[in-house]
Amino acid sequence: MRTATVSAGAESGGDVWIDIQASPELIQDAMAWCAQHGLVYGAQNPADPCALVHAPFALTPVPFPRQAFERARAASTPFNAMIDQVARDESYLSSVLEAAAKGDPQFTGKLMAVYKDEMQRRRDRMGAGERLPAELSLVLTRSDYMLHEPTSSMLQVELNTIASSFGCLSTLVGGLHRFIFGKEGVARDEIERRLPKNTSMATLVDGLAAGVAAHGHVDRTMVMVVQPDEQNSFDQQWLQLQLWERHGVRTVRKTLREVQEEGVVESCGDLAVGGRVASLVYFRAGYTDNDYFGEEEWEARRLIERSNACKCPTVAMQLAGSKKVQQDLAKPGHVERLSESPDDAKLMRTCFAGLWGLDELMTDVDAQRAVDDAIGNPDGYVLKPQREGGGNNMYGEELRQKLQGGDDLSDLVLMQKILPPSHCTTMVRRGNQETMETLSELGIYGVLLRVGEDVTINQEAGLLVRTKPKVSQEGGVAAGFAVLDSVQLVE
Ligand code: ADP
Ligand code: MG
Repeated sequence: MRTATVSAGAESGGDVWIDIQASPELIQDAMAWCAQHGLVYGAQNPADPCALVHAPFALTPVPFPRQAFERARAASTPFNAMIDQVARDESYLSSVLEAAAKGDPQFTGKLMAVYKDEMQRRRDRMGAGERLPAELSLVLTRSDYMLHEPTSSMLQVELNTIASSFGCLSTLVGGLHRFIFGKEGVARDEIERRLPKNTSMATLVDGLAAGVAAHGHVDRTMVMVVQPDEQNSFDQQWLQLQLWERHGVRTVRKTLREVQEEGVVESCGDLAVGGRVASLVYFRAGYTDNDYFGEEEWEARRLIERSNACKCPTVAMQLAGSKKVQQDLAKPGHVERLSESPDDAKLMRTCFAGLWGLDELMTDVDAQRAVDDAIGNPDGYVLKPQREGGGNNMYGEELRQKLQGGDDLSDLVLMQKILPPSHCTTMVRRGNQETMETLSELGIYGVLLRVGEDVTINQEAGLLVRTKPKVSQEGGVAAGFAVLDSVQLVE
């Protein structure tokens, strides 16, 4: 029997990590484990629409410094609390996003319009003497980080406040890695010491159930807003199944178009969709302008926002998670003003990479200097529009040309490129293994539930690791670049 090899770790400051050699039988066993535990994807085979395939995975969890990992976990609840404050601060949100809304009228501008209309409507109702019900706002965050090797610090790539995916498959990958380590002879206490327990599936499901309970309608229904052509719904299906089995909550999957066609806000404020009252509307779509095919989809968004359903997230919370807000928060003073304690502010501060807004270039000397540097050294930067979902960022020559091209840059954010250490990883996709140099990104999930003036839940909710080839700029798993991974902690 082969055993795991233990490698001395130069990158990990001298500690060792466990490396597993790939073999055909191990890959077979790992694929069988995936099938038997639901770590699967739709095979996207038009001839066989029911066919499934294992999700792409790294054979061995990536080595990660324990201290940096613990800091990222500890930063979860402070980031949740801060982003909740941002979402409640109408004047801050409006002023920070004003230029981006003008520069990106198709998306940020329209989201802002939905937000402002709803805020105005609420003021009008209160002005007319109406007592509004407590607003129910749930957010499942995922703060993404990469280890910046030159300074050994964990720098935040972005904070997602809408449609953070892979919360379920990531728990399963953790289980797969425990299985592989055990099978290859790694001692049980060593596994417990190195592989952190990842409860993201259960914690996120409990968060969704709490959102449903906060609304309290007897229908106990969550509407999951999905894309019409969703290919990789298994991560979502896990949430649905667990919600049903553990909490008796029914999920109804609807596109924005279907919500517009079938949804009504009743006089009591309840949102009824297809004959059921939605206690919670959970968005796994709506984060990109590609999800809004016409006015109907925007109408659906307005309808949901206007209702008394718990929203995951509200439009305000979606806007609070925009890249423009992340960049503004990195300026001196904001984190300090919006966080619950000086210690929280200090911890979050250590996570910010260099970020510059391009909307005030005439007056912002720092941003001007960064732009000049980026034109000379484009590989040291990333240029980001106000989009989510991968594939939108600009790098290298494209970045240089954009900065020099004379276009309106006001909706863009320039970011320091984070330089993580590379590792040699065996990636397994559709039964084929490929070993190459890779970079890894750690995501820490969080759950925050606000009921009116009270935050009733704020907790850290497990982890995701995505590992991508070193040569690839973007890291999408669904897009076929990255694989699902987990961490083994090194001292
Ligand atoms: P999206 O909303 O599209 O997910 P991200 O900001 O997460 O946008 O960027 C997508 C990917 O690009 C990330 O997962 C990461 O791999 C890479 N990336 C983004 N920002 C940086 C950065 N500052 N340094 C290095 N890589 C980055
Ligand atoms: Mg991202």
